Amino acid sequence: MSDPMPSRKLLYASPVSGPVFVELVALLYSALVPVVAMGIAIVWVGAISVSNTGDRAMAALAWLAAVLTCARVVLIMMFRRRLAKAPLDVAAARRWERRYALGTLAIGGCIGAMGARTFSFPEYPQLHMMAIALLFGYCAGQVTRVSGRPLICISSLVIASTPIMAALALGGVNDLVLAGFIFFFLLASFETVSHAYRSVTTQFATRFQLATLARHDPMTRLPNRLALWERFAEVATAARDGALIAVLYVDLDGFKSVNDRYGHPIGDELLRMVAGRLTGVLREGDSAVRLGGDEFIVLQANIPDAQAAKRLARRIIRVISAPCGIGDHEIAIGASIGIALAPADGTSLDELTACADRALYAAKAAGRGTFRFVGERDDVGRRSIVMAA
Ligand code: GH3
Ligand code: MG
Repeated sequence: MSDPMPSRKLLYASPVSGPVFVELVALLYSALVPVVAMGIAIVWVGAISVSNTGDRAMAALAWLAAVLTCARVVLIMMFRRRLAKAPLDVAAARRWERRYALGTLAIGGCIGAMGARTFSFPEYPQLHMMAIALLFGYCAGQVTRVSGRPLICISSLVIASTPIMAALALGGVNDLVLAGFIFFFLLASFETVSHAYRSVTTQFATRFQLATLARHDPMTRLPNRLALWERFAEVATAARDGALIAVLYVDLDGFKSVNDRYGHPIGDELLRMVAGRLTGVLREGDSAVRLGGDEFIVLQANIPDAQAAKRLARRIIRVISAPCGIGDHEIAIGASIGIALAPADGTSLDELTACADRALYAAKAAGRGTFRFVGERDDVGRRSIVMAA
């Protein structure tokens, strides 16, 4: 069995699928409180250091950290607003990842520079302690929250710790030992980042696979009923003024006899071919789902009139009726279709599928291989079925 964890070799090469990558980037932007807390901590340490030493460089670094923290908070807010509008694609997620990286690396640089500066004041050992505490707090936070993007995480650890190690390396033996200690922890943190990265990507990938499975029919790989609900909600929300939505209820004609004559595996293969042919006739924005058995629904979005649904129904019947070569067999199958139109026949998917099902029944009764529309309501509220002409 293959290892479900991403390979170590690929650790820094972003070996995750698009949707998982997008989620990992979104995870970066969930850290509003830690970003603010780290900003406060840096300014706090900076203020204490400046009040003790009066050092202008330290004051400038503390100001820079405050400005950077405000910019990062604004960035997080902008990201959340952007995400609320529409899901991110991979290219957009990459841009947001870069923006996040700039902010977090800049803060890491401030911590490193401030810490290194502190060690140029040997008479204030308590400031050294605060600088080390700040470095370890920052690194722990990065490993915990940013490991999903390991390159950013490890770069930030290196940027924050290297200036402090360099400043310590210029000091006495005790300082050198402290530099070695920081270096030891830096190396150890790489393993922790690697582990956290593999855990989070595995978890996200599994979640994504489960969500995909839950929305697809495993045999034909078409979307299923659950996906149809979601798609209908999207289509209904995005519908242009005056445009119609058509629900085409497709049922194969005489499918049982294919099973009886050739066996279920051939019947399954035929269903897969039908699924492929159905998706092949759709425009972008339309969708085909398998409801179950030999029943499919095609959702046709934003059409100007019933003629467009009629044309699609004819195309579907034509492509499904072309003979299917499966193994040594040439199998002919047909399809009947019932069509309901929103908003005239209903505005909910339940209403529309119920109407389309009744129209399908009429198409079957009319001899199969044809389609029927749902008609106007009569005086007692029942709908008639209209001829296909
Ligand atoms: P009609 O022309 O009236 O539509 O009749 P039909 O023979 O097509 O049969 P019907 O639509 O009433 O029933 C569909 C049949 O499809 C019932 C069942 O035996 C078969 N079936 C359901 N699911 C599967 C499946 O996953 N694989 C296969 N091979 N057959 C299935
Ligand atoms: Mg059938």
